[in-house]
Amino acid sequence: MPPRVNEPVDVFRFIDMRGKDDCWTWNGTWGGRSRDRRPYFMANGRRTMAYRWVWELVTGDQIPEGVMVLHSCDNGGYPIGCCNIAHMRLGSVADNSADMTERQRVGLPHTVVRAIRRLIEQGMTQQDIANRYALSRETVSAIATGRIYKRIHED
Ligand SMILES: [Zn+2]
Repeated sequence: MPPRVNEPVDVFRFIDMRGKDDCWTWNGTWGGRSRDRRPYFMANGRRTMAYRWVWELVTGDQIPEGVMVLHSCDNGGYPIGCCNIAHMRLGSVADNSADMTERQRVGLPHTVVRAIRRLIEQGMTQQDIANRYALSRETVSAIATGRIYKRIHED
């Protein structure tokens, strides 16, 4: 029997699709740099990240060259490789490194923390805020309860 060749839509066979707000875990193969492993899927002779296939299949749009899929949940890498499109947005490489710099070295800019607090007061859901700023819902919750960024006050 010839080896089975994947169609793009077969990517969903390897995704543990949970609730609409949950991370959807990748059960297929992994690739990328050893310190930044990503879910990879090959179909139609093209091998790329599983969540890029998902984005293209769900939206019907091809992701332009140089554009990355960013994860609001921060779970795009191993061991989750989140494939829930609700956690994805498109961004540039610069956006991605800005996100990482923001989160890992500097923390969120004070203006963002204040804006998030205002949105919480206005009644926006923590998930919507998380999506807007590409943060995890846990981070937004921690800001809401004052567990983090307590020392940032309104000017
Ligand atoms: Zn996720």
